Amino acid sequence: MTMLEVRDLTVTYRYGGASLAAVRSVGFTLDGGEILGVAGESGSGKSTMALSLVRLLPPGAGITGQVLFHGEDLTTATWGKLRAVRWAQASLVFQGAMNALNPVRSVGEQIAEPIRLHERVDHRAIGRRVADLLDSVGVSSRRASAYPHELSGGQRQRVMIAMALACRPDLIIADEPTTALDVMVQAQILQLLTDLVAQSDIAVIMISHDLAMLADTCDRLAVMYAGRLVESGPAGQVFAEPRHPYTQALSRAFPRVGDPTSRRAPASLPGEPPALGAVGDGCAFAPRCSLVMPDCLTRDIEPWPSGPGREAACLLVLPDPAVVGEDGPRVGERHPRVGASD
Ligand code: ADP
Ligand code: MG
Repeated sequence: MTMLEVRDLTVTYRYGGASLAAVRSVGFTLDGGEILGVAGESGSGKSTMALSLVRLLPPGAGITGQVLFHGEDLTTATWGKLRAVRWAQASLVFQGAMNALNPVRSVGEQIAEPIRLHERVDHRAIGRRVADLLDSVGVSSRRASAYPHELSGGQRQRVMIAMALACRPDLIIADEPTTALDVMVQAQILQLLTDLVAQSDIAVIMISHDLAMLADTCDRLAVMYAGRLVESGPAGQVFAEPRHPYTQALSRAFPRVGDPTSRRAPASLPGEPPALGAVGDGCAFAPRCSLVMPDCLTRDIEPWPSGPGREAACLLVLPDPAVVGEDGPRVGERHPRVGASD
């Protein structure tokens, strides 16, 4: 059974009387031992998608579709079930470890906390687990008694990863885990995550705005724009031969791994993503697309096969964009897709 299968996931936030979609009809699958990279500019819905997988959304947010984790739909799971899943089976690593760690408790105590909450283990065994966890993320176990401010930024991010690993999860969702770190430390942290995946059967969803960095670290890439998955496929291919014009612009924006200069505004891509709710019937990327065609302003297709194991939501991947028949792709939002992609 596939570890994680996301189908037609849509997430809305409430603005006054309106519910505006921040994630629109997203679908993908993920197996143990795989790293899926999720790329896209700031505001494209990456964090919302990540949080919705384990239903950590703020009050008022709405979620439809399915998140099948080991076959069980988390969008309708009870709170008791969700509590058990968080930490114990699926855990999150956020950006900005300094803010996420408690400044007045030692890092060892903080790593021990999820173990204490979710498992019946005695004091000594917990101490050993904490020491092992610190070792596995490359922090000396003697540092267990240190407070967050006594550690470097990279060490704190390693501690966050140790916390995420504490209850031996199957799935780690890492939301821009290295954004606040310098390039050398970023590379080390990413290497650590890839080693952990290689050694175990953990699956990782790695979120970043930096496509080149993800192409280097991940098995598969998924690119988000205005809440939709516009392209997905094997990481190297998606980066080297992008099919969607948005991915093409992103890959030009991040020619090198961890390029810090092009973080928020890709130089080759003028303009900004649309505001929530400002997406009409056409493709959300059309206003910024250098290859835009008249049809793009009225038609927004679902992700469609664009090569072996690849999909792109762009009319350009269709053999003949003018043809939409029985066998053609459905239009995006009005006929949300139900199948999974891989
Ligand atoms: P990313 O992680 O790709 O930067 P986000 O998921 O944070 O994107 O944001 C997607 C969109 O949802 C943005 O327009 C953002 O302003 C909006 N958004 C994010 N969090 C909330 C929230 N708690 N309430 C309302 N809108 C939100
Ligand atoms: Mg984010």
